[in-house]
Amino acid sequence: MRAFDYQRADDLDAAQQGADQPGTRFLAGGTTQIDLMKCEVERPARLVDISHLPGLDAIHITHDHLLLGALAKMSHVADHPQVRDAAPALADSLSLAASAQLRNMATLGGNLLQRTRCSYFRDPQGYSACNKRQPGSGCAAMDGVNRNHAVLGTSAYCIATYPGDLAVALTAFDAELHLRAVDGTVRQVPIASFFWLPGDRPDIEHDLSPGELITAIEIPASAALRRSHYLKVRDRASYEFAAASAAVGLDLAEDGRTIREARVALGGVATVPWRAREVEQALQGQPLEEAVLRRAAELATQGAVARAHNGYKITLIPRVIARALMTAGGLA
Ligand SMILES: Cc1cc2nc3c(=O)[nH]c(=O)nc-3n(C[C@H](O)[C@H](O)[C@H](O)COP(=O)(O)OP(=O)(O)OC[C@H]3O[C@@H](n4cnc5c(N)ncnc54)[C@H](O)[C@@H]3O)c2cc1C
Ligand code: SF4
Repeated sequence: MRAFDYQRADDLDAAQQGADQPGTRFLAGGTTQIDLMKCEVERPARLVDISHLPGLDAIHITHDHLLLGALAKMSHVADHPQVRDAAPALADSLSLAASAQLRNMATLGGNLLQRTRCSYFRDPQGYSACNKRQPGSGCAAMDGVNRNHAVLGTSAYCIATYPGDLAVALTAFDAELHLRAVDGTVRQVPIASFFWLPGDRPDIEHDLSPGELITAIEIPASAALRRSHYLKVRDRASYEFAAASAAVGLDLAEDGRTIREARVALGGVATVPWRAREVEQALQGQPLEEAVLRRAAELATQGAVARAHNGYKITLIPRVIARALMTAGGLA
């Protein structure tokens, strides 16, 4: 048992006071943070409980955007009728994640910042080689059991997948995060630049300064988001992370069969939530037909690199994309 200080914050200023000091962590639902402390991947000296901050769990939906508070619970957003109507892929990415108990505790902000499920990363006693935990120590997964590891966005230093579902849907639909610094200034960061590829520093995962807090997530409303779908393929039907997932959306012309715009992002197969722009471009102006969707979906695996046990993901990716697009387009 390791001692740490616990502080419950009642307003943003109090929450962020001193939060930029090393060893301080925020605590929202606690479903990731406490796990990481139990397996000793993280040993914070101080936890600041932000779960009671007023106003940060609000959901506002207008004709041009959805604004979701960072402390909104996953279950609340997943079941919100207006979210389901305006953004089905987003609602499904939440309802297909984790378990009912976890979704009732866990928040959107905490969900985005969950860390990889790489079993070597989460076992510091068993494996010392992990560049994400300890830069320069090596990577036990490269030649280990890497069935769940990434095939896209990998580096010679880390092949761990980003495990979350919500961020995949947000990536497909150009969400922006509202971030509040310790001095109270607020900036908006596109989700595409928030998550960082591992490169030679897999321990640095986000564009988040010390003490910075996610206050809200903003998603532009669009026709593609209204006609969207989230497909998650996994080893068992519930309570499991994605082997491969796709968040897709289609904006169709008046004829109902010409694709004006397609959105495609992938989860479970890449080191960050992965936008498949080649697929989107290939579909623009094309007829909504199974063969067209399948051909375009093949483009998503360009540059994919498999290790000993995860080659099946390269086969799976186009199938998951094509099926998700067919569902969104009413062909499946
Ligand atoms: C068994 C299990 C299965 C799971 N399956 C899935 C799954 O299938 N799909 C999926 O997407 N997720 C899954 N998860 C992950 C789960 O969804 C996350 O643990 C949860 O969303 C984290 O939210 P939280 O509020 O509990 O975060 P916390 O644990 O409270 O925080 C997580 C991290 O985020 C930081 N943080 C939290 N809120 C903020 C904020 N507003 N600003 C800045 N920093 C913040 C904390 O300091 C901490 O570092 C699973 C988890 C478990 C334990
Ligand atoms: S894949 Fe990344 S997280 Fe997993 S052991 Fe290698 S460096 Fe660590």
